[in-house]
Amino acid sequence: MQRLKLGEVGRLQWEASPSAWIGWTLLWGLLSWCGVKLFKFQGRDAILGGFLGSVLHFLATIWHHWGHSRAAAITGFPMQGLRFWGVLATSVYPDDEPPLAAAIHIQRAVGGPLVSAALAALAGLLALLTRPLSRFWHLLASFFFWDNLLVFTLGALTPLGFTDGHTILRWLPQLTRPNLVITPLKQVRD
Ligand SMILES: [Zn+2]
Repeated sequence: MQRLKLGEVGRLQWEASPSAWIGWTLLWGLLSWCGVKLFKFQGRDAILGGFLGSVLHFLATIWHHWGHSRAAAITGFPMQGLRFWGVLATSVYPDDEPPLAAAIHIQRAVGGPLVSAALAALAGLLALLTRPLSRFWHLLASFFFWDNLLVFTLGALTPLGFTDGHTILRWLPQLTRPNLVITPLKQVRD
């Protein structure tokens, strides 16, 4: 199966690998199962909670990559797209980029975890506020908090080969080396 092009949103081309649909379904199923087994919800509430949890996870994914895209735009070397796979996504950059300074790679990589940390703080506040009001919404807000903190902030910063932490660690040693003066692509084209 081919990647599905979802269209252009916020100047980014969005596309989804077949694994993204499987990932979303499995995540929905897993969260619903947790709702029944761990938190003792009725089946219907657990399925609704699982669905909302999986939607929140994808919103957290989009938010994280929006952070990368903002950071990239500021460097003058913008992101081109967003590719969903499994339960995560990858920022896509143009193939024809010139060699970039280490600081640019690092700035683009830091943008995602930075905005995810801010969203984790907001979700943590929501979890506290909803605690006396509703167990259902408190658990959803708590899931959103832990998801943003553990997956999109701390997890993203862990050097695993495909993460932001890996990119940062790869370019950090070159940060202090003198770099060539890099001209942004669009200026070169002008
Ligand atoms: Zn990232």
